Formats: sequence, C-alpha cells, structure tokens
Amino acid sequence: MLLFTPGPTPVPQNVRNAMSDETMHHRTPEFEAIFEKTRKHLFNLFATDEVVMIASSGTGAMEAAVINLCKNTLLSVNSGKFGERFGKIATAHGLKNVEIKNEWDTPVSVEDVLNAVKANADIDAIAVQISESAGGLRHPVEELAKAVKAINPEIMIIADGITAVGVERIDVTNIDCLIAGSQKALMLPPGLAILGLSNAAIEKIGAGVGYYFNLASEIKKQRQNTTAYTAATTLIIGLLEVFEMIEREGGLGLLYCDTARRAKATRAALEAIGLHSYPKVPARSMTTIDDVDASKIRSALKEEYGVNVAGGQDHLKGKIFRINQMGIIPPHESIWVVNAIELILHQMGRLEYAGLASKVFNETYFKTSIEKKEI
Ligand SMILES: *Cc1c(COP(=O)(O)O)cnc(C)c1O
Repeated sequence: MLLFTPGPTPVPQNVRNAMSDETMHHRTPEFEAIFEKTRKHLFNLFATDEVVMIASSGTGAMEAAVINLCKNTLLSVNSGKFGERFGKIATAHGLKNVEIKNEWDTPVSVEDVLNAVKANADIDAIAVQISESAGGLRHPVEELAKAVKAINPEIMIIADGITAVGVERIDVTNIDCLIAGSQKALMLPPGLAILGLSNAAIEKIGAGVGYYFNLASEIKKQRQNTTAYTAATTLIIGLLEVFEMIEREGGLGLLYCDTARRAKATRAALEAIGLHSYPKVPARSMTTIDDVDASKIRSALKEEYGVNVAGGQDHLKGKIFRINQMGIIPPHESIWVVNAIELILHQMGRLEYAGLASKVFNETYFKTSIEKKEI
C-alpha cells in the first residue's frame, strides 16, 4: 500500500534501519554525541535561537508553547481542527482565548488579526498554523507576525509548523516559537515534537510553567546535550539519519524545491481532469480536493490502486480528500496516484480516460526541474 496521507508519512528504509539497533541508554556519551549532532541539524532547519526536542506527539509541543508563552489571553486562528485545538488548550489551562474563526478553506486575514490585537490589550500571544492540515491551506503567518510585531513586539507569535517545517523555508524573523512533529515532513514514526524558540521567547519563558512541558527545564538540559526526562532515543537516532539522508540527497534547498514542484504538478494534473482544489491558498504540504464523490474516489484508490489518501474530518467528512506531498517521494509514485484518479473518474463515467493527468504532471514537474531552485 502506498501511504499518501499527510501524516503519518512513509519512513524511508534507511531511517528504519538506523532505528533498529538495541535501545541505547540516554545518559551516555554515545547518545549525547548523537543528540548534539541532531541539535546542530535542527538549528540549521529551524534557524531559530534555540531548539528543544520533547517526547510527545505534536499536540504536546502546542500545549508546551501555549502554557509557557501565554500568560493572559491567547488569540487563536481557527480555520480548521488544528487551529481550534490551540483555543481548547488555552481554556483547558484557564487562559483566556479570543478566536478568529473562518471556513476551513479560508486563510486568516492580516487585517482581522490586527483588529483583534487592537481591540484586546490582554492578548499576549497569537497561535496559528503555517499549514492548516484540516483543509490543506496556508496561512500568511510571516506577514501577520511582522504586522503584529510592528504594533506590539511583546506579543508572542506561536507558529504550528507541523506540516510546514521540512516542506518549505520559513522566515522566522518575527516568529517566537516554531513547532514541528516527527510523523509529518520529518519522515519518522510519531512520538517526537520539536520547538524552535526566539531569544524573546526564552526571556518570557523565564522559570517556565508546568512540569513535564516546562520549557525552561528542557532548555537548560538540552544546551548540555541531554534532556530533563528520558529522551526519545530511537526517534532522535532516526532524526539524525533523516538529516544525513537529506544532505546526501542534495540538501534542504533541493528538498523544498522538489516538494514545491510535486505539489504544483499534482494540483495541475488534478485540475486538468476537472477536479477542484479546496483551499483558497493551498499549502505545499498536501493537495486537497473537494468533490461530491470524494469518499468513492478515496475507497477506489485504496481498493483498486493500493493508495491510501486522507479524507476530511468533522463537517468535511466525505467531502474532501487530501494527498500528501511531505517528505521524499519519488515522482513516479505521484504519477501513479494522479493517473489512478483519472481512471477512477473514467470508471464512474465522469470523463473519457486520456492519460491527461499523468501527462500534465510530467510536463509540470519535469519542465520546472530545468531550474533547480526553490519555487
Ligand atoms: C498533525 C498535526 C498536529 C497534531 O499533531 P499530533 O502529532 O497528532 O499531536 C498539529 N498541527 C498540525 C498542523 C498537524 O498537521
């Protein structure tokens, strides 16, 4: 079965091999050496002043960010399930929450964020997804962060990059906390979350809040290449192999470039056969299609073509399907997927099969490879 869900994503064979050795003790010089190397790669990936790895799923890092960086009122951007989650975390911890809610295809507007900030002087942190995975959209995080900082630099910008870090280069100039999770663009099994932090964030964290998710304790330990509690040793060993593999394959720039080309080619291919891209501004992490036959297409992909794509949640259940673009994916696998969709539409009597989707994919993908730069 080809795993084409936008998380979890396939774990490459060499990464699985790297994780198959006996469990290493976390308080040993051997593991600390691995930790140190992994941390160096993370600084390069995140480009933030500090990085912290925690043993939890991505939601744990979202909770750690909210409790350590918001002391009063959180402004959360809700254009989907993951944005909604930030608000729930805030209220679960007795923090106030102001929410900007939009339909799941609609990115937040910078103006709405500025108006909310101006109307509520208690807002001291903003939480937003870079790529909101519920509908596959891209929020204008860098722009909103810049505009907010121009009004009040004290407001912490928390950016959930769980489906963005490792997908595209993110400008962290005005971002205080950038979150990643292992099972999405980092090509690992679930269980490891990473936070990139600005110096301003570290200052605000101070002595930290909470116990397990107290970021001050982690920062202190991780600067010494160890962790406050037992490290997710196996996943960190896997992460180092992921970074070394990315380097062997040509580096981060090429990974971002290939991801962008694949996302562009997949979308062009599916639009060429009459399908509609759901989000108003699509993220590069996934291709999201809304269609009356979304459920049927999804099950035919699984049963007849051995491809597992994701559906929609809540009110979008049965209305959309989402195709992963994160990680290292050979183009022939993506071609298989778009061609299978065209065949399914033919079987359903919606079009006459003409090999159009794979043709458009090939043209779009390989023509852009002439200039191997980020797009
Ligand atoms: C998957 C995802 C999460 C949640 O991560 P878990 O590892 O499932 O806890 C949060 N935000 C976004 C954008 C995601 O895609």
